[in-house]
Amino acid sequence: MPSPGPHEVLVRMEASGLCHTDIHAWRGDWPVKPDPPFVPGHEGVGIVEAVGSDVTRVSEGDRVAIPWLASACGSCEHCVAGWETLCESQENSGYSVDGAYAEHALADSRYVGVVPDGVNPLEAAPLTCAGVTTYKAVKVIGTGPSHLVAVFGIGGLGHLAMQYAQIAGGTVVAVDLAEDKLDLARRLGAAYTVNAREQDPVEVIQDLGGADQAICLAVSPRAFEQAFESLKRGGTLAMVALPADNHMTLPIFETVLKGITVRGSIVGTRNDLTEVFDLHAQGKTTVEYATRALDTVNEDFESVEAGEVSGRLVFDFAS
Ligand code: NAD
Ligand code: ZN
Ligand code: ZN
Repeated sequence: MPSPGPHEVLVRMEASGLCHTDIHAWRGDWPVKPDPPFVPGHEGVGIVEAVGSDVTRVSEGDRVAIPWLASACGSCEHCVAGWETLCESQENSGYSVDGAYAEHALADSRYVGVVPDGVNPLEAAPLTCAGVTTYKAVKVIGTGPSHLVAVFGIGGLGHLAMQYAQIAGGTVVAVDLAEDKLDLARRLGAAYTVNAREQDPVEVIQDLGGADQAICLAVSPRAFEQAFESLKRGGTLAMVALPADNHMTLPIFETVLKGITVRGSIVGTRNDLTEVFDLHAQGKTTVEYATRALDTVNEDFESVEAGEVSGRLVFDFAS
């Protein structure tokens, strides 16, 4: 049982989401590698059981969320500008520091999310990464009323991305390879769905006039290329997924002549997470999830990778 340092809290976990990033961490997919052994998980939600001597932001008994951004320096140009997610001294839960696949975890009290009353912890968990990441992506690409938004990959992130795009006023085209993911997209209000195994998404979306924004959440460089090709002139590609195969082909001529913007987007800030929880507390978002006990984690990684889970898989510590 770890004991909290001055700014830390000890959290008794209620729920912990399985993000595809945890699979990348397990496989060592990215240029920056984690250093095993470590505890994965950055969608942890639980109750503060003990607080360190300098903790003022939360108290024992509060429900908090442990996000990817475990901590940042608080004083660099990015932190000061409200871009703590770009801090070069940041730590990341379940990657550079131990995360939330645990009955108890330590977290920096200054960087935890505060989960409002009335938000189910099993739903708060996916919102802590999948929610905040896609909410931020929709914010930075500036989706608005009358925009056509192509969402590639209707998994943990994608099923929330399409809801934030719709909240911003956009009309959604959902693209996936699996029919059950597209059923979920239709239930969540997608105006159009494309099964990329059966139809060319670029053709379908260009026939609709082209997308104002395309958000790529599919773990495949080909999907990034299709997302790019589905844009209309002046459109924006949001790069969010992080496939092991780290490169896509980006045609210079088309990017220049069509005035395309390519925008990378990395998680979201504490303020973004507060907004995500507020929207959910107001009933404006739906979290699709299936629960498991942590004991099955190895099989669960494989089911998520095989695309067998609808929405998010959440470890339920009460079960
Ligand atoms: P997920 O496995 O839940 O969802 C991926 C979805 O993409 C699945 O529905 C799958 O069927 C679909 N898909 C796969 N190939 C496709 C293709 N060619 N075309 C269309 N759809 C396809 O994964 P997730 O947890 O939603 O994470 C998605 C990616 O986002 C991962 O790479 C993860 O590491 C990354 N991520 C990035 C950030 C960030 O801050 N940028 C944050 C969290 C996760
Ligand atoms: Zn994540
Ligand atoms: Zn900083």
